[in-house]
This record gives sequence, C-alpha cells and structure tokens, in this order.
Amino acid sequence: MKKEDHLFSGVPEDLRLGPVFGPEEADAVKAVVESGSITQLSTDVVETFERQFAEYVGAKEAVAVSSGTAAVHTALAAVGVEEGDEVIVPAFTFIGTVGPVLHQHAVPVFADIDPETLCLDPLDAERKITTRTKAIIPVDLFGHPANLTAFADLADQYGVQIVEDACQAHGACFDGQRVGGVSPIAAFSFQESKNMTTGEGGMITTNDGGLADGCRCVRQQGERSWGEIVRRGHNYRMTALQAAIGIEQLKKLDGFNERRVEIASIYAEALNELDLSLPQEKSYASSVCHVYSFLLPAPLAPQRDSIVQHLREHGVPVSVAYPSPLYHSPVFQAFAHEKCPVSEDTARRVVTLPTSHSISTAAAERIGNAAAEVLAEHLA
Ligand SMILES: *Cc1c(COP(=O)(O)O)cnc(C)c1O
Repeated sequence: MKKEDHLFSGVPEDLRLGPVFGPEEADAVKAVVESGSITQLSTDVVETFERQFAEYVGAKEAVAVSSGTAAVHTALAAVGVEEGDEVIVPAFTFIGTVGPVLHQHAVPVFADIDPETLCLDPLDAERKITTRTKAIIPVDLFGHPANLTAFADLADQYGVQIVEDACQAHGACFDGQRVGGVSPIAAFSFQESKNMTTGEGGMITTNDGGLADGCRCVRQQGERSWGEIVRRGHNYRMTALQAAIGIEQLKKLDGFNERRVEIASIYAEALNELDLSLPQEKSYASSVCHVYSFLLPAPLAPQRDSIVQHLREHGVPVSVAYPSPLYHSPVFQAFAHEKCPVSEDTARRVVTLPTSHSISTAAAERIGNAAAEVLAEHLA
C-alpha cells in the first residue's frame, strides 16, 4: 500500500491532520531512554500506563499491547474463541475488528448495522446466533458507543461473550459511564489517527481478573511464568517508550475529545440545511467523534465517487470510511455470508470529513462551508 493511500487526499498545506504533542511527550520519552531500559519487562512504565488507563475508563484492570488489532485478538483468545467457533461481527467496520477472528481460526459471521448509529445492530446479531456462536464484537463506530445494554442482554440470554471494539471511542460514554468500564472486555487502539496515540499500541480493559491474567499470558508468549507455557501466545508487548507517550496523551484526552466534538458541531452547523444524513447521538450515548461520516441521499449514491472528487478539487480533503462491507474482500470468500443491506447502502453513500483534534476552528469552518457549497450543487 502506498503511504498516501492511508491519508485523506488533497489535504491543503495549512491543514495538519494528525496527533498533537507537546514538550511533555518528548520529555517523557527522553526520561525513559535516559533510564537505560525501554521495555515493558524491564521498567514499570507500562504498568503505570495500564493503571491510569483502567482508572480513566473505570475498569479494574487494563493490559497494554502493541496495537488495537492485537488488543482485539488478545481479548478474543482470552474469552476462549477457538478454531471453528463463530464470532458475529459488523459488516461495516475497519478490518482490524475482524482480522483477529481469522487469526484464531474462528469463523466470522457478518451481521448488519443500525442505520442510525452505524454500529452493529443487536437484532441482526441475535438473528445470526447459532449453537456455535462464541462471541459478538460490537464496535463503537466513529466514536459512538454501540448499544451495549442490548449486547449484555444477548450475552445473558445466549451465553455468548461480548468483546467490545472500542478502538475509536476512548472517553466515549454509554449511559454516563465510559466505555471500557461497561462491557466484560473491551479493546482500544493508540494508532496515530485515534483520539489519543502512542504511535502504535493498544489496551484491553476488563473488570474480570481472570480475563486480565489470560490477556497477560497471551501477550507474553502464552507463558504464565518464566518457561511455563500454558497456552498459544504472541509477543504483543508494548514498549515503555510508547507507554510514556500514552501517559501524557491520556492526560490530554478529554481536551482532545472536546476539540473533536467541537469540530463535529461546526461541520453539523455547516451541513444542517442540506438533505444529508448527519451523525446523530442516541440518548444513551456521548460520542467522541472519532470520525465525521455523513450519508448522501440514496439517489446520489451512484455519484458518490465523483462528488468526493469534486469536494477534493475544492479544498475539502474527504475520504470514504468505509468503501465496502468487509465480506466483499477475497479474504472472506471462504465464509458464507448473507448480504447486509444497511452496510451495503451505507458504504455506497458515505462521505467522511477530516476529523482530528489537530484541526483549528477556522480550518473546520472553512472545510464545513466549502463542503456545504459543493454539496449544495449536487443536492439542488
Ligand atoms: C484502529 C482500529 C482497530 C485496530 O487498531 P490498530 O491499532 O490500528 O491495530 C480495530 N478496530 C477499529 C474499529 C479501529 O478503528
């Protein structure tokens, strides 16, 4: 993959999309380097970060790993997803949610999303439960929590595990409680585009000490203690350099989230009058606006790609999150799946505005207004 494929295209030079660091992160990294030890195993820095992150989300335990994908994978392994088990996943999400299902040699079963929140639809997930279902992965998509109460009910009723993918939702609340402290186990990412970053990195949070120990074991080669290998594992450790950055970013997370919410409200104000489906918040949710994706009206779906091009030509660096349901990828060809109509429809209509806490109010206003002008031509 080319580097620029990952980024919003046509980003003007005065717009910086990316993480925000101060001297604090640099000083923290310097202190770790100067200590002479930079790994989880030879310092206390990773444990400190874990403790602070657990406290922030309101969970008893947190286990730091090397990426969000590793966090999802470790959580799936810890709850006992094994070869041949079915795991219900949304068709409309980032591949990092579902790749780990394949790595456990389990079977991804795609379910549809709720048209309002774009998060996994609990009703469709329930329809796809079979005797082989081991787990369900609700995703807090674009920073808006999934309907966690409904998934907790499915867990009670069918005895399935809920592994929440909160990789886009650090600090988001469900019924006033931060995600990561609500579901039995949740996975976070600290990749550079997320609401806080360690460069690459991830975290699992849980209130269950047994699950936390399982995660630590999977992270550390399947070892319970030195040389005592009790299960299949990985090297998913985070370095102390990453944790040192994470400690500083965590202190700033609420501020970063406020900025993102502010940018989303600037976009909403600019686009409000147009015939678009803008992101909405459910009464149970407080979103951290990881990504601002809106939907074009259905009749414009065939023109979406040319509208995206048109927006870029007018200095609006848009992207498409996500361009297709995951089951269209050849990676999933071996698995039978039903079509997920809402996911298909959303993937055809979605347009994503740049969302980063690095964007200034002035830049957000310029982007929102320019987008509104271009879109008004197409919607006329
Ligand atoms: C970012 C992300 C992941 C994976 O995180 P990485 O740190 O990039 O491995 C998984 N799921 C979702 C929904 C994500 O946004």
